[in-house]
Amino acid sequence: MPDTPPNQRYIRQLRLPFWDQAAQDRLANSHALIVGCGALGCPSADLLARAGVGKITLIDRDLVEYSNLHRQTLFCDADARDQLPKAQAAKNRLVAVNPEIEVDAIVADFGAYDADRIVLHGKLGKPDVLLDGTDNFETRFLINDLSVMHTIPYVYGGAIATRGMAAVFIPGKTPCLRCLFSSPPPPGSQPTCESAGVFAPVSAIIASYQASEALKLLIGAQDRVMGSMLEFDLWEGTRRRLELAGLIDPECPCCHQRDFEFLDREDEETQSICGRSAIQINPHTKSPIAMSELAESLNQHGTFETTSFMIKGRFTADDIGLTVFRDGRAIFDGIDDPAIARALYARYIGC
Ligand SMILES: [Zn+2]
Repeated sequence: MPDTPPNQRYIRQLRLPFWDQAAQDRLANSHALIVGCGALGCPSADLLARAGVGKITLIDRDLVEYSNLHRQTLFCDADARDQLPKAQAAKNRLVAVNPEIEVDAIVADFGAYDADRIVLHGKLGKPDVLLDGTDNFETRFLINDLSVMHTIPYVYGGAIATRGMAAVFIPGKTPCLRCLFSSPPPPGSQPTCESAGVFAPVSAIIASYQASEALKLLIGAQDRVMGSMLEFDLWEGTRRRLELAGLIDPECPCCHQRDFEFLDREDEETQSICGRSAIQINPHTKSPIAMSELAESLNQHGTFETTSFMIKGRFTADDIGLTVFRDGRAIFDGIDDPAIARALYARYIGC
């Protein structure tokens, strides 16, 4: 098969009156960090990769599940069957779509410790834009801290049920997320996609807005970036627009006082996983796991399989499932008590 002529791949976007070879070259030298490869991260990553964003870093802690497939457009049936990590499955798809770009897949929790390290010392260098593909406000406030601290634009997005929101926060030019919302809503107070469901076209349209604004930023068309927060309800057919101009909070703890509270927080090492009976242990001290030795020792207590990303299986005695990732993160399925999970971690994996 002959190589695709390089002038063919982007030819339709180069026909746009505001897009020239200089814009395309600028895109090829740019780097987008996408936090979360779910209903928002999949379509936005797909659009950025096809447009020719030269470097894309993807971060997600989860594995592909069948319940993801109706809206998470980079994944196929086999990814769910094989339980691939989402970041890796997304990377596989993106490099198949566009082999001219570099994609780094990070299978990890985007907590405060990892977040700063990834942004400052990631394999592909410091990103030029941060895209929000998360499903929780704690992580969004963390992205906002990173955005303001390192002066990187933050393209916010959220989708739940039939509603979605998108906005762009540019440090020094627009309000930040904390100018609009002083703190995250209390845990449990907001609907989740687990409880309220998601109408897939909503996440696709919000992700398209995010990709659109990211592309404008990356080709240097900052003057075209929307200056408002958009909100849709696709079922009701309604649309609202909140102008961001004038909403900078002169007392904002983040962009005015530069108190990066979410970045300075100690990550919880032990977390319950939303929507299922499972506990995650994410040790603060990261050291790569000796995978084959650990698999051998776990197999004395149950049935475990090793893949290139993880060890996964079940203990025979108590029917508890365990997944251990290369960086030492572990998920215990079938228990709700964090203390039991910590004890099992210490016993089988080490402190
Ligand atoms: Zn602010």
